[in-house]
Amino acid sequence: MDLGLKGKWALVCAASKGLGKGCAMALAGEGANVVITARGAEALEATRAQLRALPGAGEVRAVAGDIATAEGRAAALAACPQVDILINNAGGPPAGDFREWTREHWIQALEMNMLAPIEMIKATVDAMAERGFGRVVNITSAAVKMPYDGLGLSNGARTGLTGFVAGLARQPKLASRNVTINNLLPGPFDTERLRSNTSATAKKSGQTFEAVWEARRGVNPTRRFGDSAEFGAMCAFICSVHTGYMTGQNVLMDGGVYPGTL
Ligand code: NAP
Repeated sequence: MDLGLKGKWALVCAASKGLGKGCAMALAGEGANVVITARGAEALEATRAQLRALPGAGEVRAVAGDIATAEGRAAALAACPQVDILINNAGGPPAGDFREWTREHWIQALEMNMLAPIEMIKATVDAMAERGFGRVVNITSAAVKMPYDGLGLSNGARTGLTGFVAGLARQPKLASRNVTINNLLPGPFDTERLRSNTSATAKKSGQTFEAVWEARRGVNPTRRFGDSAEFGAMCAFICSVHTGYMTGQNVLMDGGVYPGTL
């Protein structure tokens, strides 16, 4: 199937590693021009080189900066001649006990996982509607459906984004102009973040990393963790020309570990 992405411009936030990188790789592999961002320049540059080396890849640009800041967002947007596809992503907030979180912790989580994506959407969707094509994918979390104990900052901020997007995506001004906004909800994927969260859990519970890792893998119906390449492939399909009739949805990729019927 031709996803129809050749020559489109995709801005993929937080994409030097992990799930964001998986999305950038899949989009570039389909011939989209890609702008990637991350704070650390070294990994970002290495990923840009990998993207450029993909057969059929278009233009690849990299912008170092913090997407949770106005300057980071402005720099990312300035590097992209037009945003046809926007992938909103950032790191996740730290784990902990809500009794220890201050207002500052909450503001940081909201900035990163709710307000930054909303600002990026605000900066891009009306121009997408004018051009008659636009795809926004917000990388959120399975925690939106099934909250993770200890990750209250993430559970709260991402659910706020989800509620906002549910309304916005259904605005005829966008939906009737072939602009879709959907959320992609990762369950456990084997990335640096999952490994560092596992280390934190292991330390807290006095278990080894391997014990916690294997226990988590074992409860997943697939008996494995997700791979960022398969996450990227799903993202590329949602960004394709074939999905104009799907908007405001929450697409869960978790190996079936969420136990609900719907
Ligand atoms: P990861 O492997 O740690 O990669 C995170 C990427 O985002 C890196 O490229 C990082 O580069 C960049 N980044 C982080 N904060 C940023 C910021 N403020 N501005 C710009 N770039 C930033 O993480 P991941 O596993 O791919 O997770 C991606 C998102 O999915 C996170 O929000 C995570 O909480 C969520 N999630 C992941 C899983 C999972 O199992 N992996 C499950 C549910 C939800 P720099 O550090 O250099 O900026």
